[in-house]
Amino acid sequence: MTTTYPLAFTSTPSTTARDEAEREAILSDPGFGKHFTDHMVQVTWTIQDGWHDAEVVPYGPISLDPAASVLHYGQEIFEGLKAYRHADGSIWAFRPEANALRLQRSAERLALPQLSVEDFLESLRQLIKVDGGWVPSAPETCLYIRPFMIASESFLGVRAAQKVDYRVIASPAGAYFSGGVAPVSIWLSTEYTRAGRGGTGAAKCGGNYAASLLPQEEAYRNGCSQVLFLDSQEGKYLEELGGMNVFLVKRDGTLVTPEINGTILEGITRQSIIQLAKDRGHAVEERPVTLDEWREGVASGDITEVFACGTAAVITPIGALKSKDFEIGDSSAPAGELTMALREELTDIQYGRRPDRHGWLTRLDA
Ligand SMILES: *Cc1c(COP(=O)(O)O)cnc(C)c1O
Repeated sequence: MTTTYPLAFTSTPSTTARDEAEREAILSDPGFGKHFTDHMVQVTWTIQDGWHDAEVVPYGPISLDPAASVLHYGQEIFEGLKAYRHADGSIWAFRPEANALRLQRSAERLALPQLSVEDFLESLRQLIKVDGGWVPSAPETCLYIRPFMIASESFLGVRAAQKVDYRVIASPAGAYFSGGVAPVSIWLSTEYTRAGRGGTGAAKCGGNYAASLLPQEEAYRNGCSQVLFLDSQEGKYLEELGGMNVFLVKRDGTLVTPEINGTILEGITRQSIIQLAKDRGHAVEERPVTLDEWREGVASGDITEVFACGTAAVITPIGALKSKDFEIGDSSAPAGELTMALREELTDIQYGRRPDRHGWLTRLDA
């Protein structure tokens, strides 16, 4: 192995980079996931040479052999995190080393090579060095960063690829809730599950998302924005949404959330909320949570708030859970008080409006 550690990046500037006026026009209304910055990071891994050829290159299509194993067997993982612009213009990431460690765990499960935490962080800094101007500054906007890894070896045999590409792209994002944070209705999938014991539920891999798209369509048809999945063995325990973790809040202020059990994705937002709630003196229970507990708790008034959380939306209040046979909650009820207070506290830390007392922020532009 000739892997150098840490990786040394070369940089090739784009000759078609947007000028400032074009960039500002996009940043004034970026939406989500539809515009991309002028550059991307790419690093190659081979079984002979380890990680090498670390580069920042112009953003553009990837040339892949049609036999590349990712196209056939889905050997792919990704991460999602945001770069925030603070009032003084500086650019920060929230707990990016946790994303690096999770990418390593996902890599292990998908038989992909691991990238060091240092190289992961450096890949973010390298992209920000050339594309920092793409981090918007309007309230609640950010640059969404998407690191990912694909099996790029041309080989149709079924085994772990011996050539892999790591890439980082970035996309400016507007405020997730442009009209103010409003509770959503979510759909209970009774026919499909997200992950089984020993499967890939704990890994952030594209395949999990592919499997969630059909139930997601069912949710849309029923006027819901997201799907809630139950455990695959008994169909009675809450797992998570297609891309967010879930919390119940009890009348006495206790937060309850499904424990990390191998089938749930360990969200960094989830972990941060647990910490912030404990800091406020709330009890937090990570344990199996049944659908009945939710239904009965809402009926008795013992459960007062429900929310989902993840990097993209931070915290989304859940008004109602709908299924073929029943509905729990009230989609027109206002967002819960603790839900909104935690959301505000977390976003305040991310945007540098409150002290970062846990040392969660890492500067990317210095
Ligand atoms: C990414 C993801 C989450 C949320 O994780 P964060 O680190 O909080 O963004 C939750 N569930 C699934 C399935 C995910 O892929």
